[in-house]
Amino acid sequence: MSRFACRAALLLALSLGISAPAYAAQDCAGRLGTSRVMEVDPVGLQVGTKQFPQTLDLADREVVLTFDDGPHPGTTPAVLKALARECVRATFFLIGRHAAAHPDLVRREIAAGHTVGHHSMTHPMTLADIPYEKAVADIEKGLKADDEAAYGAGGTRPRVPFFRFPGFGSSPALLAYLKRRGIGVFGADLWASDWNPMTPEAQLTLVMERLDHAGRGIILFHDTRAQTVKMLPDFLAALKQKGYRVVHIVPPPPQTAVAP
Ligand SMILES: [Zn+2]
Repeated sequence: MSRFACRAALLLALSLGISAPAYAAQDCAGRLGTSRVMEVDPVGLQVGTKQFPQTLDLADREVVLTFDDGPHPGTTPAVLKALARECVRATFFLIGRHAAAHPDLVRREIAAGHTVGHHSMTHPMTLADIPYEKAVADIEKGLKADDEAAYGAGGTRPRVPFFRFPGFGSSPALLAYLKRRGIGVFGADLWASDWNPMTPEAQLTLVMERLDHAGRGIILFHDTRAQTVKMLPDFLAALKQKGYRVVHIVPPPPQTAVAP
């Protein structure tokens, strides 16, 4: 392919929206950016002070951004665009049936460098309120659907062993199950209450008040909410202005070597 053809192909890819790798190569100077990557061991992990006694080891003014319930074609692309504009990496906790319906969006999240975790197949409210076997089946179906959408195949262990309970509705038996499966459980330290209808301005004020009070933490949003999409650019600008730093959480790399 000639240099011109290469360039034409690149421009075509960009115009078609296949631009995720371009974000990674972008110059992040002057933007909020992602300040560090934190490798999180999922085995026995239970973090987020809204649900558990402990949380991630974050320094003052460090935040982890998480988005639940997607992907959704009406809102997730705008969330990805806002994050890309500020060179910020986040974690998406997917609903399996949404991932199965929109695998293209799941792949865009991964291509842009975000972490893709799991949030059950059908989002029962809650998994703790349905029979244990049904709850386990819904969790497992979700893991498989997400990985099939993301990578074309789901193995016995999810590629990213991170899980968040819908409505934070866990039970000791389900927590023990995930621990045995080596899957880490993420709650949150604060949220924007974006399931309640409010203006983007009111939501921004609310979440910044909560964040300024907490000083750090795992923040929960929903990439399915239009008000969150509208708020996000201003929220990222507020983080930058107030000196907050974004931490990107990732699982350890898959173990390829077998111990002798
Ligand atoms: Zn949810």
